[in-house]
Amino acid sequence: MCGIVGAVAQRDVVEILVEGLRRLEYRGYDSAGVAVVDADKNMTRVRRLGKVQELADAVAQQDVLGGTGIAHTRWATHGEPSEINAHPHVSGDITVVHNGIIENHEPLRELLQQRGYVFESQTDTEVIAHLVEWERRTSDTLVEALHKTAAQLEGAYGTVIVDRKDPERLVVARSGSPIVIGLGIGENFLASDQLALLSVTRKFMYLEEGDVAEITRRDVSIIDANGDAVEREVIESNAEHDAGDKGQYRHFMQKEIFEQPTALKSTMEGRITKDSVIIESIGVNALEILSKVEHVQIIACGTSYNSGMAARYWFEGLAGVSCDVEIASEFRYRKFVTRPNSLLITLSQSGETADTLAALRLAKEKGYMAAMTICNVSGSSLVRESDFAFMTRAGTEIGVASTKAFTTQLAAMLMLVTAIGKQNKQIDAEKEKEIVQAIHALPVQIEAALAYDKEIEALAVDFADKQHTLFLGRGEYYPIAMEAALKLKEISYIHAEAYAAGELKHGPLALIDADMPVVVVAPNNDLLEKLKSNVEEVRARGGLLYVFADEKAGFEAVEGMKIVSLPHVNEIVAPIFYTVPMQLLSYHIALIKGTDVDQPRNLAKAVTVE
Ligand code: GLU
Repeated sequence: MCGIVGAVAQRDVVEILVEGLRRLEYRGYDSAGVAVVDADKNMTRVRRLGKVQELADAVAQQDVLGGTGIAHTRWATHGEPSEINAHPHVSGDITVVHNGIIENHEPLRELLQQRGYVFESQTDTEVIAHLVEWERRTSDTLVEALHKTAAQLEGAYGTVIVDRKDPERLVVARSGSPIVIGLGIGENFLASDQLALLSVTRKFMYLEEGDVAEITRRDVSIIDANGDAVEREVIESNAEHDAGDKGQYRHFMQKEIFEQPTALKSTMEGRITKDSVIIESIGVNALEILSKVEHVQIIACGTSYNSGMAARYWFEGLAGVSCDVEIASEFRYRKFVTRPNSLLITLSQSGETADTLAALRLAKEKGYMAAMTICNVSGSSLVRESDFAFMTRAGTEIGVASTKAFTTQLAAMLMLVTAIGKQNKQIDAEKEKEIVQAIHALPVQIEAALAYDKEIEALAVDFADKQHTLFLGRGEYYPIAMEAALKLKEISYIHAEAYAAGELKHGPLALIDADMPVVVVAPNNDLLEKLKSNVEEVRARGGLLYVFADEKAGFEAVEGMKIVSLPHVNEIVAPIFYTVPMQLLSYHIALIKGTDVDQPRNLAKAVTVE
């Protein structure tokens, strides 16, 4: 889950490494460290508990110089966040950073202790350092020692090693955690995400599962999982150079909320005409596959799971195709039945979500007709391992709490649903036109929703001293309420739950009192009258209501009930529209509470561990 950066160059690389870490800090941020080796084979390591800034300050105060180095920002899995547990870890001349988990670290630790190694940290990572040190003694090269080490490791990892006595090279292994190599002129780099390297190169090479690579200033040589020398394609990145900058915004999350109109425009670009969906744009062979789909199985985690839950209403309601949605960490460990002509769809912002990836690999053996991913990061594992990928093109998302990735996933799925419904004749030309026009209208409507920022900011004050919040919705707005509750928990640490409004009387109504604000998502649809009854149930029990309602839904502010009256939007895209005021609400509550909005405690972006 963490960030890794490495460099071999003639120039001093410390600044590059620390700047790279800054750009990756959203992936893990409990501690950080850097180690560099200079031409005289001196190794300097600096580690700090806390943010990358602590490390940057420490580095600035000392003479840390070297042309070859590795750096890491950690999201602890084994051993508390502390300076001792921060990476890089050292064994003799060997220095290591690692992303992921070594599952068999306990037996390896015992074995290494028997061999006389003394462990400094509680991390699983330290076994890699000692194992490489041990294997190096009987290997001709560092890369050979890494090969022998990798054969003994179980779990998911990306790991990079430097040998103080051989500062000409970095060696790296990928097994379950992404590693990208950045190619420079007379210098080369690597990282767990290309974002870290955009200030030094645009040329990237993605390692595949099981690859071990050796990187020098002039060369990159890669051995694949079968032990064969391979070349990996060089990809020229067009990612925004400034993706790592907040610009005029106070937080990345705020920037990303406000980027949604543009993000949605790029999701739809080239995929819809004025009034129809261009099915071929969904992927190679999409036409053939989508015409055969009888069932859809969506697998996802977190925010992506919520978007899958919302899309289920479209798959069944618009395209007439049955759809199941399941949390990846559950799906992968249960026995399941594959329905005939079932399309597997994985949803993930990063494309590296460990549980989702594992579920995809498992499902591929279980007779799904095809595996598709809806993802935001090209070149990611899910994209590479799926039969076809529908990219959301939201642009880099840095705030840990996902926003634009969610709304663009929804837009992508709505286009997919339309394509399937068109193929199976559930959606006729007129309906298709209505859907497509509603999608076209979204960016402008989202702008309108963003204009409620000030009004929502004022409401947020009411929530800041509360311990709990309940979100209610019906139909496809129930998953929107789930996503709203997840956002609030993630960034404000207020306990929040979402309920399908019809479930209120089956339990949660017992919780209602003046200390439990109730937020209601209230579009003007068929279920409005039923929702109004649910609102009354809360009011009658002294609950405080905050209703985000369609201006035509006929809600009026009365004592105990505040209304945010929103413009009417087409029913089909309204779940996407209603997401935005919910995001703003969480954001403003978190601001008042003073939490770390972009890097909330205990969480990390790109959950690459199980
Ligand atoms: N499992 C390692 C640790 O706890 C690496 C965690 C990470 O990916 O940051 O140190």
